[in-house]
Amino acid sequence: MRKTLMRPEMKTGVSTPVVTPIMPAAVYAADSPDALDAQYEGRTEGYTYAREGHPNADVVATRIDALEGAEGGIVTGSGMAAVSAALLGLLSSGDHVVGADQLYGRSLRMMSEDLPRLGIATTLADAGDADSIAQALRPETRMVLIELVSNPTLRLAELDGIAALCRERGILLAVDNTFTTPASVQPLARGADIVIHSVTKLLAGHADVTLGYVVAKDPAINDRMRVFAVTAGLTPSPFDCWLAERGLMTFGLRFEKAQETAGALAEFLSGQPGVRQVLYPGRADHPDAARTQALLRGRPGTMLSFEIEGGRPAANAFCEAADGVAFAPTLGDVGTTLSHPASSSHRALTPEGRAALGISEGFFRVSVGLEEPEALCATFAEGLAAARGA
Ligand SMILES: *Cc1c(COP(=O)(O)O)cnc(C)c1O
Repeated sequence: MRKTLMRPEMKTGVSTPVVTPIMPAAVYAADSPDALDAQYEGRTEGYTYAREGHPNADVVATRIDALEGAEGGIVTGSGMAAVSAALLGLLSSGDHVVGADQLYGRSLRMMSEDLPRLGIATTLADAGDADSIAQALRPETRMVLIELVSNPTLRLAELDGIAALCRERGILLAVDNTFTTPASVQPLARGADIVIHSVTKLLAGHADVTLGYVVAKDPAINDRMRVFAVTAGLTPSPFDCWLAERGLMTFGLRFEKAQETAGALAEFLSGQPGVRQVLYPGRADHPDAARTQALLRGRPGTMLSFEIEGGRPAANAFCEAADGVAFAPTLGDVGTTLSHPASSSHRALTPEGRAALGISEGFFRVSVGLEEPEALCATFAEGLAAARGA
């Protein structure tokens, strides 16, 4: 009979599952108006409506909080939703924000198109040089948004100098830690006020969820972002959160293994004919090698870039021959992925604009995955041989 009342039949409290259940419920029932009061006033815990929060999101938030040394993190439906929660949830018309000039493409677009449309002025500056950021500051600057390793040239930010500037002037420092991850650096412990992640990438790690995370050190600022995220509907799906929780279980192991292989691949590539340069922050010949120790605690990560001779024809030949490596615009997957900035992330720039950043037609970025290093190097060798013949 009860079935006809459309209430759940699942037995709870009988046995303890060893894996978090997926809770897709969009709505939660309350016992009474008094019980609802208690919940809204924070005297009891509970859920009301999934856009406002749900158990699977809370599990992911708690796990990333632990990695970042944070509290009360907000899980969002994508990395860009997390960027939006920070920028749109905290800034107002008349404010000014400084962004790193090599931010993730969509973050750059938000800086150049969306914020100005809403009356928020923006300036881009070089995060590798705290003086460049200092020169961009104005009396009405409220926030500085940087990434610690630039895409795709893998230059390291001058985090300590920028954090000192922001602290002096009471400006919020937001760090997108997607590339570097808490395995290398915990930005909140280094003077940042806000940390952002595209959980889609290394943290979830299997290229099967789109998810983000944002947290502020100051609980009042964190609450403002949470309220905006709920209002704007930046909420994640329970299933994506469930997959991300599973991915997070192995994040540390995946990072270590991929980082080791990245070092081996960088070493291999640097000795190959037809390779013009290899950029990996773990190598002594990297322009910011000295910062790798100080900023990344000697953990240079899983990303490297390299440049081959022969322009676009060689680049095409490389991709086709190295087809065991996915040519795909992502990073942090269990499989190694290859991106070609000139035809993807940086295609909107003129060839001169790309040249100024050091991005030629032969420039590739690699996100190293979990393949065995020997097999991976062999695949790259096939690509290089084809590129030389192109
Ligand atoms: C991918 C990425 C984003 C955006 O994340 P989505 O999950 O794709 O929305 C933001 N910042 C960086 C550094 C990224 O790599």
